Amino acid sequence: SIPLGFFGGIGGASRNGILVKGGNYLEALNDVDTIVFDKTGTLTKGIFKVKQIYSTGLLDQEKLLEYAACGESYANHPIGKSILQAYGKEIERVKIQHFEEIPGFGTRTVLEDKEILVGSGKLMEREGIVFERIEAAGTAVYIAFQKVYAGYILIDDELKKDASLLIQGLNQLGIKRLVMLTGDHKTVAESVGSSLGITEIYAELLPHEKVAALEGLEREKQGKGKILFLGDGINDAPVLARADIGAAMGGLGSDAAIEASDIVIMDDAPSKLIQAIKIAKKTRKIVY
Ligand code: ADP
Ligand code: MG
Repeated sequence: SIPLGFFGGIGGASRNGILVKGGNYLEALNDVDTIVFDKTGTLTKGIFKVKQIYSTGLLDQEKLLEYAACGESYANHPIGKSILQAYGKEIERVKIQHFEEIPGFGTRTVLEDKEILVGSGKLMEREGIVFERIEAAGTAVYIAFQKVYAGYILIDDELKKDASLLIQGLNQLGIKRLVMLTGDHKTVAESVGSSLGITEIYAELLPHEKVAALEGLEREKQGKGKILFLGDGINDAPVLARADIGAAMGGLGSDAAIEASDIVIMDDAPSKLIQAIKIAKKTRKIVY
């Protein structure tokens, strides 16, 4: 049975916009010594700005952006939403015959019998597209039209201001091991990591590889201490479900994320995690 004091703790958390799905999770927060973060939408805003559009010449730049936007018109990923935003015009969705979001890769769309691929270098490789990887500060979104490489859109995300508060707070609480798992490029991940002081980074991971990385960390710990994973639920619902404690950003996050998680942070402020841990500590003092 759950001691009554936990209900007070859960109530206190909920008044602070933190939904804790059970007293056991509040109690477990006391034993967290490792925090694993997703990057996009968790530490960064998930609102990407277009920095550069490069066309191979197959299509003009305007058409390239238009096709990319068509390719993303049904996407759930923040990258897709940002490209749609940058295009800024109405998409004639009736022309779209097929849409598929390939988690951790990108999208495949059929528009008036023509195929558009929009996504990572991994997507291009997977589809056998001949292309050139670019090395630039930002995330490159590659576009192929009818299986021919058409160019890329270079986009860039911003840190959430609140993310530094979160890291500071965790340092103050003495939680030392901070890890980032991301599907994005290594260079982007490292730049976000160095701004925040997260040095242990695993990048270019597919959703199932994020789970494997988490399991690797668990094995290392040999049952000592708990791991909390904080994500936004886009392409990380499997890790959220797998972690000792899965915490999801409920603001932008998907219903699947909220379902898969043990703790939901109801707005876009990841530093609320600090409050949750403090409430857990107080609750333990009252209960025991
Ligand atoms: P993160 O771990 O940073 O949240 P994801 O696992 O969600 O990243 O995505 C990994 C990569 O897959 C992205 O960096 C991007 O290159 C690509 N990707 C995924 N979905 C899309 C999409 N809808 N459009 C373009 N690229 C995408
Ligand atoms: Mg994410």
